[in-house]
Amino acid sequence: MSNSKVVADGPLAAAVSQRLSGVELLDWSLTEAGTHPEVAALYTYGHPRVDGQILDRFPALQVISNYGVGVDHIDVAAAVQRGIVVGNTPGILNGATADMAFTLLMATGRRLVEGDRYARSPEFTVYDPGYMLGREIYGQTLGILGMGRIGEQIARRAAGFDMPIVYHNRTRNEEAEQRTGARYVDFEQLLGTADYVVVATPLTPQTTGLIGPRALGLMKSTACLINIARGAVVDTEALTEALASGAIYAAGLDVTDPEPLPRNHPLLQLPNVTIAPHLGSATEQTREAMAAMSVENLLRGLRSEPLLHTVG
Ligand code: NAP
Repeated sequence: MSNSKVVADGPLAAAVSQRLSGVELLDWSLTEAGTHPEVAALYTYGHPRVDGQILDRFPALQVISNYGVGVDHIDVAAAVQRGIVVGNTPGILNGATADMAFTLLMATGRRLVEGDRYARSPEFTVYDPGYMLGREIYGQTLGILGMGRIGEQIARRAAGFDMPIVYHNRTRNEEAEQRTGARYVDFEQLLGTADYVVVATPLTPQTTGLIGPRALGLMKSTACLINIARGAVVDTEALTEALASGAIYAAGLDVTDPEPLPRNHPLLQLPNVTIAPHLGSATEQTREAMAAMSVENLLRGLRSEPLLHTVG
């Protein structure tokens, strides 16, 4: 490794920094000014924005290693154009992220967080069989928007709940259909059929705002929307309106746009939304695996070797 100067957006988790001995870590503020020909790599930990303007500050950059699979915060085309490889960590987080999708699906349909608040409150003085009725989960139709690596893991979990599955991608995925029994439908059919719509696409120009007023209007009023992809795939204002008016039943969000939402955002006041602070892959085991893979990508890039996974 002739040059091991790396700019990273810290503070990094211990599992990452412990693996980086031998690498000289420089502050992310270098991306804001000047030109830095001494830097060979960027390490992106918490989704910092990386665009062509930033890349132009690092004329000797060889690699960008991203901690995570989603790379919507990185202008991958601009990197590739400059001969910079971009690495990410797909696959190893499928299970944890699909588990989170199902956690949100169940919490939303069965009103778990609302119930928890009630069970702790002074108002809970007597059991009443008529209160807090939720929506069934088993046997209900699951709609997966984005039947990729994570989407397929979500489908596998639904099998145990006897849920018929419909899905939509731009391209039909017949292998996933054979493995999961999911049925390919168009976008509108998915929205109109599913009792639970789970969003698992990447954030791209095509998917930005994909779940907006029109899409929400096509969903059943009894349906729940689950988003474990990226916040901006869903139009926040349209979702707030749909939840407040009862146009859809509830939402479970691992991600929001913006993230975090302003503390006084009306969405945060609604009882029929369950929000996690972007915990999709946040298990000790998966985050350890992500640290190992992203650091391995970084070190390989510094040695000009092929990465474990590249995008672009
Ligand atoms: P993947 O394997 O690439 O799957 C993405 C799927 O989305 C593909 O099946 C793709 O099929 C489909 N898709 C892409 N554009 C679409 C469009 N315009 N309309 C409909 N379907 C579309 O990716 P993955 O590894 O499953 O990850 C998916 C995303 O999840 C990541 O990009 C990341 O942003 C997010 N994620 C979130 C967390 C979290 O912590 N919440 C954790 C991990 C990942 P086609 O190409 O055929 O359309």
